[in-house]
Amino acid sequence: MSQVPENIHTTFDQLLNRADKEQLLKQHAFCVWFTGLSGSGKTTIAKGVERELHNRGYLTQVLDGDNIRSGINNNLGFSEQDRLENIRRIAEVTKLYINTGIITLNCFVSPTEDIRILARDIIGTEDFIEIYVNAPFAVCEDRDVKGLYKKARAGQIKNFTGLDAPFEAPTNANLEIATDRMTIAESVQAVVALLLPKIEAKN
Ligand code: ADP
Repeated sequence: MSQVPENIHTTFDQLLNRADKEQLLKQHAFCVWFTGLSGSGKTTIAKGVERELHNRGYLTQVLDGDNIRSGINNNLGFSEQDRLENIRRIAEVTKLYINTGIITLNCFVSPTEDIRILARDIIGTEDFIEIYVNAPFAVCEDRDVKGLYKKARAGQIKNFTGLDAPFEAPTNANLEIATDRMTIAESVQAVVALLLPKIEAKN
């Protein structure tokens, strides 16, 4: 648990709580954490899941690496230390959403076991599932959705995951989706099926 610094007086105990908000929204808040190489399909799947859940009346928020890095985390780079700080802040933001009763769909490369454990620890195991969006490096490079692989190969991007920075494949993900062998629709359905029982209102 993190310590509250001196002279900081939190008021969490005086606010309406998560259960009140979940009741209002008729859903159970939750975090789906997508991990995988750049271009593996995290954001594509999250967008599809968001649409499906929205159609069923669930309130969600997609948290995406590029959006976060262009805003709240725009002072962070890709060193080991900055990657940890990036995830720590994201996890804290996720907790705020969860305490507001909202389901978050988090799309972050999150390349190491340490980083994913940090996220899970901050958010809480009971509110967290990890989904490994898995496509071989060569497939992601071939897709090169954002042109990043080309730049990394040309030496214009340092510490690029899978090239000159490691990606540790998750060993205990709740679900693995092989996006080189599944359609987008199949991938989205697999996540929705896993998620629906977890986000139904509890009372
Ligand atoms: P990431 O968010 O992991 O960086 P993106 O979602 O931006 O990746 O890009 C993934 C690319 O892979 C998209 O061009 C998408 O159309 C394609 N793709 C092919 N099959 C799938 C699948 N089954 N699931 C997700 N994306 C897929």
